[in-house]
Amino acid sequence: MTEFIKFKNWTVQIEREAFRRSISMTVAVDKPIRVRTNLLCSNQKILEFLNEKEKWIQKNLSQFEKIKQQSPVLSFEDGAQFPFMGRDVILKKVITLGAKDFFSIFEDQLLWHTQKISFDSLSSQSGDFLSSNLSSLKIQKTFVQAYQRYAISELQKRVQWWSVKMNLKPSNVKFNQPKSRWGSCSSQGVINLNWKLIVFKPEIIDYVIVHELSHLKHMNHSPSFWGLVAEFCPDYKILRTDLRKNFYTPKFLDLN
Ligand SMILES: [Zn+2]
Repeated sequence: MTEFIKFKNWTVQIEREAFRRSISMTVAVDKPIRVRTNLLCSNQKILEFLNEKEKWIQKNLSQFEKIKQQSPVLSFEDGAQFPFMGRDVILKKVITLGAKDFFSIFEDQLLWHTQKISFDSLSSQSGDFLSSNLSSLKIQKTFVQAYQRYAISELQKRVQWWSVKMNLKPSNVKFNQPKSRWGSCSSQGVINLNWKLIVFKPEIIDYVIVHELSHLKHMNHSPSFWGLVAEFCPDYKILRTDLRKNFYTPKFLDLN
């Protein structure tokens, strides 16, 4: 049974179970505050409980705000920096004669190949090239597509490499971008990887791949599953924590 109440500016989700003895609470990023209690606990009592915990809630929520700011702001100014495989690549505009803009990544540079002519005419019209929303969105899409292209090719190579090393073969590897997972493995042996993993350092990417490949053998998170992960990725606990802490880093790749 789920119900919602308001406390200060927050939405609180209440979950009741008949035999729960005490009130407990969790807060999570982008989710309502969750209170669990029994069927008899009055809303008045829940509000008193929340009142007592207000400082704790405040502290945790403001920490979440900080976490959200981990992701760089998407800007197409020369010198803007973006995470790519755990390092920062620096945006640099280069003039091209080609008909279309495109991005390429070379060593620590993220090159924006753009046409001089369209750039000049646009900038003289509007004063600022990116003040036009339309062209800004178009550039953003091209940028995200480039990231995705690099991601898929890099992740494919790594899955291939680990698959040989672990002697575990997925029936297929697919790339997607679910909101809150980095990878999954179906009972048919299909591995799905979130291509936005590409922002993270190679060790983290490899951990996710090893994790999903291990599911081909153990479709659960049993001790034998973790044993297999640890065999190929001894630092998996640290890497998993790193990944959780940096959950919001790829946010700049969201198209809005
Ligand atoms: Zn898993």
